[in-house]
Amino acid sequence: MVHKEFDLEAENKVIVKAYRSLLKSIRRALTKEDRSKIREAFQLSLEAHKNMRRKSGEPYILHPLAVAQICAEEIGLGVTSVICALLHDTVEDTDITLDFIKLKFGEKVARIIDGLTKISGVFDQPDRSIQAENFKKMLLTLSDDVRVILIKLADRMHNMRTLDSMSPKSQLKIASETAYVYAPLAHRLGLYAVKSELEDLSTKYLQAENYVFVKNKLNETKVQRNKYIRNFIEPIHEDMSTEGFKFEIKGRPKSIHSILNKMKKQNVSFEEVYDLFAIRIIVDTADDREKSDCWKVYSIVTDHYTPNPDRLRDWVSTPKANGYESLHTTVMGPKGRWVEVQIRSKRMDEIAEKGFAAHWKYKDNGQVQDNGLEGWLARVREILESPDSNAMEFLDDFKLALYSEEIFVFTPKGELRKLPAGSTILDFAFDIHTDLGLKCIGAKLNNKLVPLNHELNNGDQVEIISSGKQKPHEDWLDFVVTAKAKSRIREYFKQLRLKASAMGKEILERKFKNAKITFTSEALTSLVKYYKLKTVSDLYYQVANEIIDRTKMDIEAILLAEKTKLPEIPAPAKNKPTPALPNDAVILSENEANLEYGFARCCSPIPGDDIFGFVTVGEGVKIHRTSCPNAVALMSNYGYRIIKAKWANSENVQQKAFLSSIKVSGIDSVGIVSIITDIISKQLQINMKSISINSQEGMFEGNIVLEVHDTRQLENIMSSIKSSSELISVNRVDLS
Ligand code: MN
Repeated sequence: MVHKEFDLEAENKVIVKAYRSLLKSIRRALTKEDRSKIREAFQLSLEAHKNMRRKSGEPYILHPLAVAQICAEEIGLGVTSVICALLHDTVEDTDITLDFIKLKFGEKVARIIDGLTKISGVFDQPDRSIQAENFKKMLLTLSDDVRVILIKLADRMHNMRTLDSMSPKSQLKIASETAYVYAPLAHRLGLYAVKSELEDLSTKYLQAENYVFVKNKLNETKVQRNKYIRNFIEPIHEDMSTEGFKFEIKGRPKSIHSILNKMKKQNVSFEEVYDLFAIRIIVDTADDREKSDCWKVYSIVTDHYTPNPDRLRDWVSTPKANGYESLHTTVMGPKGRWVEVQIRSKRMDEIAEKGFAAHWKYKDNGQVQDNGLEGWLARVREILESPDSNAMEFLDDFKLALYSEEIFVFTPKGELRKLPAGSTILDFAFDIHTDLGLKCIGAKLNNKLVPLNHELNNGDQVEIISSGKQKPHEDWLDFVVTAKAKSRIREYFKQLRLKASAMGKEILERKFKNAKITFTSEALTSLVKYYKLKTVSDLYYQVANEIIDRTKMDIEAILLAEKTKLPEIPAPAKNKPTPALPNDAVILSENEANLEYGFARCCSPIPGDDIFGFVTVGEGVKIHRTSCPNAVALMSNYGYRIIKAKWANSENVQQKAFLSSIKVSGIDSVGIVSIITDIISKQLQINMKSISINSQEGMFEGNIVLEVHDTRQLENIMSSIKSSSELISVNRVDLS
C-alpha cells in the first residue's frame, strides 16, 4: 500500500473555513445556545470521523459539513437540521451510539439521526421485497419527521456532486437510485432546484455521451442565446421600470435532463427544441399585492409579445398542492420563436426554489386538515416571515402527503375538485360519490357530451350523467387512474363474484345430490381439473354464470375420467433460442471479459446506445441501454450485479445487423403504409423484419421492426419517415 502524506495543517484550514461558511449560511439569527450546540455537534463529528477519509482522499468531516450547508443554504432548514446533518453518519459509521446522541442533543435530534441511519441501507439489500419494505418505511418516515428525508436529499446531493471520485460501478448505482427515487421525491416536495440538479447529475453518469453532447451544444450557442434573451427582455425591462416595479429578470437555460427528455419524447434534434431557456420575472412586492402585480407584469409582457392562449398556467390563483405558485405563459418572441415566461413574486420564488415548508399539512387538534391549501399556506407564510429563530420547529407539527401532478376541475355548481393528472370522467364521478361512479354513463363537459373515459383537463366543468340501468364493466379498470375509482370498481366485482360463487355452489350441491354423489372437496378438485380451472371458486363462478353448461355436466363420468387419467408428464422446458451474436460486439469491464452475454429484449440496444451489463441468474449477462426504463430500477435495486459495458469498434460489429423497433403514428391518410415502407425498403434499402399498422378513428399507429447497424442509421430512418409527411410522428419503441 502506498502511504500518502497529507498536509494536516492545510487540511485543518480547509475544515475551519468550511465550518465558518456553514455558520454564515444559516439565515436566521443564531442565539448563543444555538451556536454552542452546533459547535458541539461539529466537534463530536470531527472527532468521530477523524481517521476516515472520503474516496477522494479528503478528510471525511468535509462531507457532513457540506451536507449541513446544503440543508441550511439550499433547503432553508434550521438549527436542528444542521446539527443532525453534522451527525448524520456518526451512528452508522463510527462508535457513537444513538443513546449518546440522545443524552447530548436530546430526543428530537436522536430520532432524526435514527431515521437517517435506518433509511441509509434502503437499496443495499439484495432482496427486492426487503427493498420494497424498506422503501415503504422510508416513505413512512416522511410523516414522522420530514426533516429525515430533507437531510437525506442534502446528503444525496453532496454525494452526487462528488461522484467523480467513485468507481464507475458505484457511479451507475448511485446515479440510478437518484434518478429512480430521490429526484422524484424532491419534485413531489416541491424542491425544484434540488430536483433538477439531481436529475442533471444522474444524467451525467447514466447517459454520459448525451449529457456531454447537450452540454457542449449549450456552450456553443451561449453567446447567441444570451443576445436573444437580452433583446427579448429589453422592452419588458423598460416598461417595468417606468411602472415603478422592483424586480429582477433572469433568462436561464433549462436543465440538460429536460432538454434531453424533450429531444427523446418529441424525437427532435437539439436545434429543434424551441424552449431551451425560460425567462423568469421576479417582482419584489408586498404580500397583498403579489397577485395583481403578477398579472400586471403579464399584461406588460403580452403588450410586447403575443401569448399562446393554450399555454397559460395560473398557479397564482390556485397553487399546486406542493406549494408551487407562479404564472407561466408562452409568448411569440422575436424571429418567430416561442419563449416561456414565468412570473412570480420574490416569496413565490423562494418557495419554488427551496420548496420549503409549503408542503406540510397542518395538524390541528390531532386532525389532519386536508381540505384546501388556505389554512396551512397562511400558516406557512406567517412562519416564513417570522423573525423568530425557533419558528422552524413548526415542522414537528406538520405532516406530509405526497402529491402527484394534479388538475383542477369544477362541479356544475362551481365547486373546485382536485384530481391527479390523467383522471377521466369516471374518476371524477367516483370522486364525488361511489354510487354516482357505479351508475355513470358519461358527462356533459363544458356543455358537450363526452364518454366515460374522456380525460379531464385543468379548468373543465363536469356534469355527470348517470342511469339506473348502468352497471360497471371490467374494462373500466383499464382507464381510471384514481385509487378510489379503482378500489370501488374492484370491490363491486368482488361482491358480484362472491354472490355468483354462493349461487354456483348451491347449483352444484343440487346436481351432486341428484346424481347421488357425496359433495366432497376431492370431487370438486377433480371437476376443477377437468375444466382446467384454477380454484373451486372459479368453478362456482363459471357454473353460476353458465360459462360451464351445467345441463351437459355429467358428474359421474367426469369423476371417472379424472380418476383413470394418467398423471401428466411435464414437457421438457425448451431453452429459448437467443439470436446469434458476434461474440465481440460488446466489451465488458476487464474482470468480467469472459462472461457470456445477450441483449435485453426490453430495450434492444444497438451500437451507439449507452449500455451496461446486468448479471442475470442462469442467462449470463444481459446488455441494457442505460436509458432503459427497466434499467434504472435494475441498477438501483441490484447495483452489485451491474457491470460496465461498451460497444466494440470492430468491423465485425459494424457489419452485424441489430433488431430495433420504431413506432409510427399519426393521422391516417391514403397510402400512408406504402409511403412508410417505400422509404424504408426502397429509398434506404433497410430490411424490415415485421410491420403492423392499426387504424382507428382516423388515426393510425404502427410498429416496425428493422435491421439496423447503429443508432446513426436508425436516426436517419426515423428522420426520413418524419420528413416525408407532417402527419406522421416516429419514435423508438422501447423507450417509455
Ligand atoms: Mn452521508
